[in-house]
Amino acid sequence: MMAFVERNWREPYPNFVWAKDISVKVCDDELEVSGIVVIDEEEGRAAPDFLREYRQAISRYGGPKRQGKSSPHIQFANAETDEELIKFVQRFGPIVVSSLRTEGRSTPYVIDVPGVVHYEYSGDRTVLVARQVLAELRSERRAYRAALSLVSELQQKKYADTQKLAESVSEILTNISKWPEQWERERRLRESGLGYACQPAWLFRQENLEHLENYEHYASREKTDDPMTNALGMDPIAAGHYSICELVNAFSSLVYPWGKTPIEAPHWDLTGGIRPVLYYILRREYLLKARSIGICRNTDCRQLFEIERFGQEFCSEECSRLQRQREYWKKRGKNLRKRRANTRKFRRS
Ligand SMILES: [Zn+2]
Repeated sequence: MMAFVERNWREPYPNFVWAKDISVKVCDDELEVSGIVVIDEEEGRAAPDFLREYRQAISRYGGPKRQGKSSPHIQFANAETDEELIKFVQRFGPIVVSSLRTEGRSTPYVIDVPGVVHYEYSGDRTVLVARQVLAELRSERRAYRAALSLVSELQQKKYADTQKLAESVSEILTNISKWPEQWERERRLRESGLGYACQPAWLFRQENLEHLENYEHYASREKTDDPMTNALGMDPIAAGHYSICELVNAFSSLVYPWGKTPIEAPHWDLTGGIRPVLYYILRREYLLKARSIGICRNTDCRQLFEIERFGQEFCSEECSRLQRQREYWKKRGKNLRKRRANTRKFRRS
């Protein structure tokens, strides 16, 4: 069943690394993100890799064992503060780049095998220096969280909560409204010679935005008893499905040989940011047959988590305990009030 999704993560697989040794400087409403371009397999393997960590988190020991909130796609969706978002960018690189330049930097290399060899030299390395607009980073996070929440709702099939579904679709729409402009911006960046591919590897135009507006309309449409109205257009669940498809189809995946076997993977050129990898993961989660994404039922938490066992409602033991306590006191309070009211009634009579 998992054949499409998981080859063993230990098998050869390309690296998806924006750069290594990434550093982030906060400049007003932008981040300046810089890192050294990786030149070989070994360097790539040593650098944090978003997709590799996802594959490890969902398939440790070969099986589809999920790991709570440790997978980077869940971490990104849950990153509610700027601090968390910046930490994320520092680890994996910018999500979407607004401008980019490269520079040469003399970087020291040290080869050190204690007692055997110690050798130092320096070489000129290419450094990417990118800008990530903070407002765009926040929007990306909100859109992605809404998209995962929508998948979570759709995974419940006929039990999907259509109100939550409609909320997610409008949240997505609000937060990706700049994608067509961002596509145009990246096209110009690439035309000027940055990156390997001369066109963006993704595509999202104004017309895609209009499709989503349509789906939003149908997702939030009230059910009526009028069969004519219901027969027109689509029902909210279908609208939710089409919304996710519109998103994942903006970032097409590629099939290419790697080692001795063909693999399916995101586009390899991440110069414009690691967003294609985020949506590649969304595509995989969406295509899973089983429920894979949960939203914590603790009303103070509401974080996303990976469902590890059937029927799991909370992201952690702690949240489960807190919510059970809250419900207990609520019920107890209600009973107490009822009893007091009865006592008063009794006294009056
Ligand atoms: Zn929780």
